[in-house]
Amino acid sequence: MQKKDSIETFQRNTKAITYCTRCLMPSTRPWINHNEHGACNACENAEAKKRNIDWKARWKELEKICDKYRSKGDTFDCIVPCSGGKDGSIVAWKLKHEMGMHPLCITLAPQLPTKIGIENLHNFINSGFDHLLITPNPQNEKKIALFGMTEQGRPRLSTVLGQTTALVNAAVKFKIPLIVYGEEGHSEYGGVTHMGTKSHFTKEERIQLYFSGNDPDKIAEKIGIKRKDLPWMRFPTLQELQSVGILWLHWSYFEKWNQYEHYLLAKRHCEFKTLPQRSIGTYTNFAQLDDDMQDLHVYFMFLKFGFGRTTSDACIDVRRGALDRKQALALVRRYDGEYPESLIPHFLDYFSMTKEQFDSIIDKWANREVLTKVNGIWKLKELPS
Ligand SMILES: [Zn+2]
Repeated sequence: MQKKDSIETFQRNTKAITYCTRCLMPSTRPWINHNEHGACNACENAEAKKRNIDWKARWKELEKICDKYRSKGDTFDCIVPCSGGKDGSIVAWKLKHEMGMHPLCITLAPQLPTKIGIENLHNFINSGFDHLLITPNPQNEKKIALFGMTEQGRPRLSTVLGQTTALVNAAVKFKIPLIVYGEEGHSEYGGVTHMGTKSHFTKEERIQLYFSGNDPDKIAEKIGIKRKDLPWMRFPTLQELQSVGILWLHWSYFEKWNQYEHYLLAKRHCEFKTLPQRSIGTYTNFAQLDDDMQDLHVYFMFLKFGFGRTTSDACIDVRRGALDRKQALALVRRYDGEYPESLIPHFLDYFSMTKEQFDSIIDKWANREVLTKVNGIWKLKELPS
């Protein structure tokens, strides 16, 4: 394997997966922490959200920040990443309607846009927002995605990087000093523990904790193109960043993050639509609907770490009290790690490769410590319990 970062390599080599005693988050999730009772840090964070955090004080902190940055309406005062999904839509909606801000909503074009994603984005914009769609050169973006999938098992690498770098470049170009992201993933879903206790993050933290060490400024060299050919996919210079003085916030620090509530609000305020059937690999139909590449991303998560989209969704539902652990377990056993069969031709077309080439990459990333092949499809050797 090419991957060298120690934590992932260590966890990929773990022979037996252990599961959080409260939800079902496995020990193979990168950066995850479990306490002495076997509970993961996302479950600890969920408890803290209910009991220990003074949400009124944090909301006041947000009000103070908004007071400092709010424009008089003659210009944008903050950027919100919005795909038309429930979470970004509601962060933008609250900034506009509850904080009196003037957000510029930005979408990074999906790698494989879906019909429902396009419809939801249109509905969101039409609910009253200024919007900018950024489409980095698809040929170069595909090179990053191919590098990500082949060398790191990350077919969405270009999107993951671009959702930060494109927005920061827009912030510099339009001189908008505030970017408001949604949830802090490490505290909400499992990972390092310290990120949930602060409202903002730095460029270095972004690279280390959210990009798995991938520095966008070094990607051009890795994929064999010139840095100047990736204007949206690299960070602005230090001088440019300092000239605007960007503050990067996480909304989940200021308000109790609840995806399901966002779904209900987005339906009410932004005409958010769901799929008529469940998404591939899970039982839900209302999350991450805009990009078919998401289905391959979560399949690689299953291949590398032995857990998929059902585990992620069910753990969230356990933490918010909508499922108990036994119900979550039944769903995980039924749907997790589902092979995205119907989308394979789509992926082959995007990456311009044969099924044999694609399968060899799948096999390269399958974690043989925990998976085995059954009738040509990778399955867990041992189902979670
Ligand atoms: Zn847990």
